[in-house]
Parts: sequence; C-alpha cells; structure tokens
Amino acid sequence: MNTNQSKKFIINCAAAFERELENLSRLDGALGDGDHGVSMVKGFRAAKETIEIREYSDVGSMWLDAGKAIMNKTGGTCGPLFATFFIKGGMLAKGKSEADINLISKMVTAGCDGVMLLGKAVPGEKTMVDALKPAADALKAAAEAGCDTDTAMKQCIDAARAGTESTAGMLALKGRGRYQGENAKNHIDPGAVSVTVIIEQLYNAMTQ
Ligand code: ADP
Ligand code: MG
Repeated sequence: MNTNQSKKFIINCAAAFERELENLSRLDGALGDGDHGVSMVKGFRAAKETIEIREYSDVGSMWLDAGKAIMNKTGGTCGPLFATFFIKGGMLAKGKSEADINLISKMVTAGCDGVMLLGKAVPGEKTMVDALKPAADALKAAAEAGCDTDTAMKQCIDAARAGTESTAGMLALKGRGRYQGENAKNHIDPGAVSVTVIIEQLYNAMTQ
C-alpha cells in the first residue's frame, strides 16, 4: 500500500461509515446507547478532512494524523480505541512510502495489541476485539506463509466477518452492553462490525 492507496483507504472508510451509519446505530441501540454510527462517521470524517488536504511521503505519518483526528472528534468508548489502532499501526510505518503485506500485517497486529491493552478486552467479551484479534492473527499467519496480498487480505476479512458473527452468541462483558445480560444475545456487536468495515476498505485500497 503506497501513500495514494493509504489516502484512498481512509477516505473510503469515511464513505463506508456514512453508508453504515444507521445500521451501526441500530445495532448499538440494542446493546448500548445507539450512538455508534454517529461516532464512527464523526471520527472518520475528521480523519478524511485532515489527511486529504496534506501531502504525505510516508504511510505512517498519515495513519498517525488519522488516529489523532479520530481521537479528537469521535465520542464514546470507541474513539480512543480506533484512534489507538491507527496510532500504534502508524508508528510502525513511519518513514515508509509503501507498506507491503508483511508490514501491513505487523501494523494490524500492533493496532490490535494497542486496542486490547487500552480496552482491557480479550476475545469472547462481545467487543470489537472479537473481530480485530482473529483478523490480525489470520493476516499474520497468511503473511508469514508467504501468501500474496489478495489472498492474505481475503483471509483477514473472512476472519473479521466470522468474528463479528460470533459476537451474536456472546454475553457482553465490556462496555455498555454488559447491562443487558442475556438480552445481549442474538445481537451482533457494532464495534466488531466497524472493524470489519475498516478491514474491507483496507483490502479494497490495497488491491485496486
Ligand atoms: P459508547 O459505548 O461509549 O457509546 P460506542 O457506541 O461508540 O461507544 O462503541 C461501542 C463499541 O465499543 C462496542 O460495540 C464495542 O465493540 C466497543 N467496546 C466497548 N468497550 C470496549 C473495550 N473495553 N474494549 C474494546 N472494545 C470495546
Ligand atoms: Mg454507544
């Protein structure tokens, strides 16, 4: 992924969250306070507006700027978590005009580790970690096995989608959903859906 593709990735995330706004807020309405779609749109709109007017010679600085914009403009629990994903990932791509699949894999893993450290969540607690951790692990395994970008990213997306679906059977142990008890079951976690949106846009930007 070069800087042009990285720019497209963040701009396309903003567009994808506009499209998903109502769905994400509806999902958050079942588990939390119904603001998740609005929060994601605000955060990624700010990231897009920040990075699209600047010239970047490296992918890392762009991700860091995107992360800071998300941190400043996204309300709710998810703001600092998604900001951390971009900041921790971006730190690994500082000075790199291009991130190949091996580096992208390391960035996604570093982002995931940052999210898990900050949110103190592990898989199985019905959060974004249930999509992000398997996605990061699948990407790492594929990159280490020498898969090409298309194959590796498809495995990453499949893992994110499966992880998201798996949240339907879980009790929420973190975030506002924990007040729902058994009522949380049969609803998928909106933060996990948002992770999947981001991974899908990463795939699109890297393979176009
Ligand atoms: P809020 O709960 O403050 O309204 P959002 O609705 O924007 O925040 O985001 C809710 C999402 O945040 C949840 O769907 C879940 O995926 C994620 N989340 C909540 N708490 C945590 C946590 N401790 N670690 C990771 N993700 C979390
Ligand atoms: Mg909410």
